[in-house]
Amino acid sequence: MPTLTATKRPTKRSAGRSAPELIFGDLWEYDPAPETADPKLKPRYDLFIGGKFVAPASGKYFDSINPANETKLAEIALANAADVDAAYAAAQKAFTTTWGKLPGKERAKYIYRLARLLQDRAREFAVAETMDGGKPIKESRDFDVPMAAAHFFYHAGWADKLDYVAPGRKVAPLGVVGQIIPWNFPLLMLAWKLAPALAMGNTIVIKPAETTSVTALKFAEIIQDAGLPPGTVNIVTGFGDTGAAVMNHPTAVKVAFTGSTEVGKIIMRSLAGTDKNMTMELGGKAANIVFDDAPLDQAVEGIVNGIFFNQGHVCCAGSRLLVHEPVAAAVLAKLKTRIRTLRVGDPLDKNTDIGAINSKEQLTRIEKLVASGVKEGAEMFQPACKLPSKGYYFRPTVFSGVSMSHRIAREEIFGPVLSVLTFRTLDEAVEKANNTAYGLSAGVWTDKGSRILKLSTELKAGVVWANTYNKFDPTSPFGGYKESGFGREGGRQGLLDYCKLV
Ligand code: NAP
Ligand code: MG
Repeated sequence: MPTLTATKRPTKRSAGRSAPELIFGDLWEYDPAPETADPKLKPRYDLFIGGKFVAPASGKYFDSINPANETKLAEIALANAADVDAAYAAAQKAFTTTWGKLPGKERAKYIYRLARLLQDRAREFAVAETMDGGKPIKESRDFDVPMAAAHFFYHAGWADKLDYVAPGRKVAPLGVVGQIIPWNFPLLMLAWKLAPALAMGNTIVIKPAETTSVTALKFAEIIQDAGLPPGTVNIVTGFGDTGAAVMNHPTAVKVAFTGSTEVGKIIMRSLAGTDKNMTMELGGKAANIVFDDAPLDQAVEGIVNGIFFNQGHVCCAGSRLLVHEPVAAAVLAKLKTRIRTLRVGDPLDKNTDIGAINSKEQLTRIEKLVASGVKEGAEMFQPACKLPSKGYYFRPTVFSGVSMSHRIAREEIFGPVLSVLTFRTLDEAVEKANNTAYGLSAGVWTDKGSRILKLSTELKAGVVWANTYNKFDPTSPFGGYKESGFGREGGRQGLLDYCKLV
């Protein structure tokens, strides 16, 4: 493993006057710039059922932890089967008596209101998201919260134009849908799930992930303020059996799940033989493919964004870099230089590039897979950055000399860890990229348009980005091939998964 020379780090103030030794690519210290907006957290959050916050039947609560410093953020209600029953009863009532009866143009007004109210409280939500999940404030502020609002705006626009979702056919809502979301984009995944379902006229029971329930429950306040008919959206929190109760409930005519392939398979097995509609947004192991004619500096930025964005807690993360042999050494060298400048630390600091790993369990999972990479003989590079003494952190990590049989090339790590492989021909790149159980996304970096078009058809991935990475838009459908799942979220296609054709 290469080591870095320890150099004296100049402070911003001293930098101009004295001339401390500075190696190219070393990190300049910035003064701390913490975001100070009040996240307006309650000490305890109840379940949101029938338009009200209600205590869980069990009387039990669990702690939500700030992974940046391991302190308790809030207590969250633990829902059991009786609470899930109550949530479904409220959703059924709203479907048959209020929300399900509203014309699209009336539903649109409510959905616009959700978007506007979220925009009004954007800064507060960004801080809460960062504190609960560990992601850098610049991401929750500039990506998660604005994208969540954009999803509501976009789908509000659809609600009175549903005749164009399936031209020549009429569409109707399905009824009550059950939804489960993961911890990597808690508010954004909530928006991806709620907005199309609401636009179509369905009512909802949704469960956020155990470690990141706070912004969903803050969003319940927005649902109240927007005046949605009680029971239109119900939020049940918990872990363990709670998720299974939401997925298996007889009232749910459709279930939508985003999470790991492992849990997705458990759900599919338990629902086999029922007539529930299903969509599954599962794991990924994306290839980011760089050809020798690519603008390399731009590609390096895309690679860094592809895998280190949100600590690599991204289903579509570009976790495998496939680089054309003629430029492999140059790309690796540029990548290492760039990674030395990434700031790892306090997620609330506006300068932070890589925040906290979401939970201790996830940190342990990343450490284990990284240890397997070292053991299997890949060469590991990590910058010598200092990590905070409290909280869950992991240095950005690049493995070179990786072969397709290594676990780090096959398994989803879901952390800031990049595996670098090389290729000589386009066919070899396609074969390696597709040689995975997953098929969620891929990236291509090349100057040649014809190559982009060819690869976008040959790569078995739901999204292929060309000369960019991790770009999202509510108008664009997102979803997987193979073990990355089925169904689409976003765009007209996403709406089709929440309706029946009549
Ligand atoms: P996870 O462990 O599968 O959990 C996802 C959700 O499922 C959580 O809310 C979890 O609740 C719940 N759950 C766990 N066991 C369940 C069961 N037996 N029945 C029903 N629900 C159950 O995934 P994660 O670790 O939170 O998220 C990371 C995974 O999500 C990665 O694999 C990532 O690729 C995938 N992901 C995919 C997409 C996509 O669009 N394709 C987007 C984001 C993330 P508790 O943990 O609270 O019990
Ligand atoms: Mg938390």
